[in-house]
Amino acid sequence: MAATELTKADFQSDQETRWCPGCGDYAVLAAVQGFFPELGIPPERVVFVSGIGCAGRFAYYMDTYGMHGIHGRGPALATGLAAAREDLSIWVVTGDGDALSIGGNHLIHALRRNVPVKILLFNNQIYGLTKGQASPTSELGKVTKSTPFGSIDAPFNPISLALGAEATFVARTIDTDKQHLPMVLRAAAAHEGAALVEIYQNCPVFNDGAFDALRDKKRGEVNRIYLEHGEPIRNVTRDADGVLRIGGDGAPVIHDAHRADPSFAFELSRLSSSPDGPTPIGIFRDVARPVSGQELTHQLAQARAGADDSTLDAVLHAGD
Ligand code: SF4
Ligand code: MG
Repeated sequence: MAATELTKADFQSDQETRWCPGCGDYAVLAAVQGFFPELGIPPERVVFVSGIGCAGRFAYYMDTYGMHGIHGRGPALATGLAAAREDLSIWVVTGDGDALSIGGNHLIHALRRNVPVKILLFNNQIYGLTKGQASPTSELGKVTKSTPFGSIDAPFNPISLALGAEATFVARTIDTDKQHLPMVLRAAAAHEGAALVEIYQNCPVFNDGAFDALRDKKRGEVNRIYLEHGEPIRNVTRDADGVLRIGGDGAPVIHDAHRADPSFAFELSRLSSSPDGPTPIGIFRDVARPVSGQELTHQLAQARAGADDSTLDAVLHAGD
């Protein structure tokens, strides 16, 4: 199939969507299906991998290959797939519980290894499929079915976590932003290596309005800080003590997502500790580092070049 022939319909499966009415997942699905044709990759070379949770159903609705794995193991399945099939475009869809609790270890190591997979983390700050328990991103004091007196556990900040795990591409966007979401997906797709895209996603049933401060069209200019690379960032300044502040009269802050040192991106990520406050939206980090599959291929080639029966090659094919 020629790239120019691809349309949104080529990525829409015949499966009935079963998310609750008004769920933010619908907007993300529409954005992904609408964006994919521009990549020019035929559906048979695309794989969506998911774990457990509402977001886990995503793979059914893409008319591509898909794998619906056990809880939190999407990045692990995708890592194996990427090692075996360099020709595939591999995407993981996961939620805040799936990615950051049950699958936390798999997530950080896929990022650390720079496995060439794109990870879409739907963050609704709640366990939705199991009907409303506190998740690893639920805010302190959050009253849920599992925390009737308020959550006492400090939440993860997924952007900070990914940066700390040495991720080479880290971004945040919002489910209903029809311009920004495809822009971030485009950049993630173009990135060679692992990409972590946090998507603020509304769960109207169990955590409605968690990100309303960021959706309000009038207040949006106040509550979103767009990361404009190479340009001063609005609303953020550095005070006389060198601390990042929202607003103020200090010098404009410049952000460069391509800086090798992730310290400044991390500093920016801390501004979003409260979803009620101004929150950076966009690409925090986009840097190049050897991709895990390429390194493995190189090592195997070296081992084969000097092969004897004790080489890595012989070990890997001992059962052939
Ligand atoms: Fe969406 Fe929440 Fe329903 Fe899950 S429980 S499908 S996240 S609205
Ligand atoms: Mg969730």
